[in-house]
Amino acid sequence: MKKIELNAVVTQRIDLAPGLMVLRITPESGPVPIFQSGQFAVVGLPAAAPRTPLADPEEPGADPERFIRRAYSIASPSLPGEHLELFVTLVRSGELTPRLFALQPGQKLWLGPKITGLFTLAEVPADQDVVMVATGTGLAPYMSMLRTGITANPKRRFAVLSGARHSWDLGYTAELTTLARVCPNFTYLPIVSRPKDEPTAWGGATGYVQSLWEGGALEKAFGKRPLAADTHVFLCGSPLMTEDMTRLLTGQGFLVHEKGRPGQIHVEKYW
Ligand SMILES: Cc1cc2nc3c(=O)[nH]c(=O)nc-3n(C[C@H](O)[C@H](O)[C@H](O)COP(=O)(O)OP(=O)(O)OC[C@H]3O[C@@H](n4cnc5c(N)ncnc54)[C@H](O)[C@@H]3O)c2cc1C
Repeated sequence: MKKIELNAVVTQRIDLAPGLMVLRITPESGPVPIFQSGQFAVVGLPAAAPRTPLADPEEPGADPERFIRRAYSIASPSLPGEHLELFVTLVRSGELTPRLFALQPGQKLWLGPKITGLFTLAEVPADQDVVMVATGTGLAPYMSMLRTGITANPKRRFAVLSGARHSWDLGYTAELTTLARVCPNFTYLPIVSRPKDEPTAWGGATGYVQSLWEGGALEKAFGKRPLAADTHVFLCGSPLMTEDMTRLLTGQGFLVHEKGRPGQIHVEKYW
């Protein structure tokens, strides 16, 4: 098998919690590829790369010569920059993430030549509000969208509904809280599903992200009910959430956006 060259380097790694990190990577030759906010890159490592001790041991029988590739949404802005930022959760039984979590700054990985994806704001009319719903690392594409364009259209309202088990798994809370303070057109609604595990009492919303939509928290923050006529909803993360939210929204007159059939629900499933 042809040897695949590891063509990018880890320039920074920020551990937010055990098994949750922000990873900044830079191509070794040439500029950071051009992309649109919301798109994903493909990164990879050979099976011979070590696994973090936090992960489960490898299943026996796997081909030791294989090259493992996976898609990751880009969290950095789609402006000229020096790195691509990824927001990654460890799947302990997984193939690639245990190896990504063993990487330290200065070590190499493979970055695919193409950054692609249709989960972008490109087809959202300028007069529509945007609600971004995430579970876990599903926040990544929204960070890129907000960091790139929150100030471009002050009339458009943006909201992030971010759900995780614990407050420490939410990610980017300081940045999003600050953004909500300084941008009148931005609402940030975090929610945790296991508040009993919190070391100090969690004063925010509890449950699943779906309940922020159903329970009226967003409606209250926006000062009106978001409707299919004026709002596009982005869904990113676990299939349980994206499927549940899609059911909820289609029941309220929203349509799934498809090629050739514009709609107001945009979906990116992580698995
Ligand atoms: C378009 C796209 C963008 C993505 N962006 C991101 C991203 O920004 N950050 C990120 O962490 N992942 C992202 N993913 C998921 C990523 O591609 C991998 O599937 C994930 O990192 C697991 O890889 P693995 O090789 O360790 O696990 P695998 O060996 O591939 O095992 C996959 C199994 O692990 C479970 N799984 C996969 N992802 C998760 C998860 N996030 N949480 C819990 N269980 C999971 C599922 O059961 C899945 O069947 C994205 C996926 C797609 C399709």
